[in-house]
Amino acid sequence: MIFYIDFYIDSETHEIHQSVCNYLSAKNKIYLGIYRNLGMALNHAKSKGFTRASVCNSCNVSF
Ligand SMILES: [Zn+2]
Repeated sequence: MIFYIDFYIDSETHEIHQSVCNYLSAKNKIYLGIYRNLGMALNHAKSKGFTRASVCNSCNVSF
């Protein structure tokens, strides 16, 4: 599955979404990578420096 992280300049938190998520911002997103699940994407995002990253609840439900 392909994951993106949303990125807002004025926000301190970043949410990780699947590429198909309805809540994924069209503009404010950064390609994260391809992972087997949301947890792996989250770990990778944190290792990249997105220490305040969290997972999107909407994406979570779909698993
Ligand atoms: Zn989402």
